[in-house]
Amino acid sequence: MAESNFIDYVKVLCRSGKGGAGSRHFHRAKYVPKGGPDGGDGGRGGHIILRGNAHMWTLLPLRYRRHIFAGNGESGSGGRSFGKDGEDVTVDVPCGTVVFDAETGEFLCEVTADGEEVKLLRGGRGGLGNWHFKSPTNRTPRYAQPGEPAIEKSIIMELKLLADVGLVGFPNAGKSTLLSAISAARPKIADYPFTTMEPQLGIVEYRDGRSFVMADIPGIIEGASEGRGLGLRFLRHIERNAVLLFMVPADADDIKQQYEVLAAELEKFNPQLADKPRVLAISKSDMLDDELKAEIIPDLPEGLPYVFISAVTGTGITALKDMLWSEITDERNRIEVTPITHRPLDGHHRVREEDEFIFENVPVSDADEEWDEDEDWDDVEADDIDLDWEYGVNDEPAPSDGRE
Ligand code: GDP
Ligand code: MG
Repeated sequence: MAESNFIDYVKVLCRSGKGGAGSRHFHRAKYVPKGGPDGGDGGRGGHIILRGNAHMWTLLPLRYRRHIFAGNGESGSGGRSFGKDGEDVTVDVPCGTVVFDAETGEFLCEVTADGEEVKLLRGGRGGLGNWHFKSPTNRTPRYAQPGEPAIEKSIIMELKLLADVGLVGFPNAGKSTLLSAISAARPKIADYPFTTMEPQLGIVEYRDGRSFVMADIPGIIEGASEGRGLGLRFLRHIERNAVLLFMVPADADDIKQQYEVLAAELEKFNPQLADKPRVLAISKSDMLDDELKAEIIPDLPEGLPYVFISAVTGTGITALKDMLWSEITDERNRIEVTPITHRPLDGHHRVREEDEFIFENVPVSDADEEWDEDEDWDDVEADDIDLDWEYGVNDEPAPSDGRE
């Protein structure tokens, strides 16, 4: 799986820019002996912004990008000059990207629409220059605010595919065969389990030039929601589908029971999946004659729309497309209307082999300013400041912000 181009999980270290320091500067000019404080404000640190891009299908471009750092704000300077803002970094991600805090597993944000921009990490605000602190009691403030520090966070991005129809079935149910029969996708087909190692998307042509997207998600097995088999790794893709197509082969011992096991696995993973519209396809029905079909029908799950199909002979495929289309176009099933809650990542939810993707921790520069959260500059007493100060003598430069 390491060679795979379908990357739906990446871990990246992100750091926004820190704010530039405010300047402590005093105006000096010939014939202006007491020019007063004129230190400008530091610039804002760069944000890290995620932007949805409909042309991206996987997180592959981020696979080897170990860190994303925004630019630092520059320090302010004399003459009330503002420091330059740090450069924002905009990262394109596929639509359907969900972002979690890598340390706590907490959900941070998601990007679903093309062009949608989400601010992942805010840049530090620039510090105020000393001229802000001029007051009747202290006309010569020798202090300025440092810039706010950068925010550093290790994040996990997961892609949850935005397909209209998700195929749900045990290995060997015939999911890949169906997808290759009705779309241009060419998934691997074989009669042993887990031939499909990564989700496959296929565009299914419907009547009058319309089409919908169907995803073949690697087979789930009982216990998938606890991490058995391959299922868990891909179950999250199912969360985004508008319609779930359950597939049980005609030669199954008990179709209803197989369906119930599949449904229970999905619901254990995310109870909201119970609300999604479902269709049951009994696959490989070329193996059944009418008599056998008639025997099966009374034992099917109640109230669930079903269809007998055969990807080999083409039986039932048109009827299946009609059923799926009517569910997809049903206003009540729009993904936008029923947003899903992303459960936080927990230990067993994470993907071990992908976690080998470890990056060294890049320390924040030593020259960083101390930022005292509790300090409120408005409350600094004039008495705290030594007023026996002479112009021009102690004219210290603004503190360095450690930029290279
Ligand atoms: P998946 O694991 O659900 O993706 O299943 P596959 O699509 O890989 O199919 C598993 C096996 O079932 C393969 O040997 C297929 O040839 C066979 N198969 C798939 N669809 C049909 C069908 O409609 N009729 C028959 N007779 N066999 C099928
Ligand atoms: Mg398959």
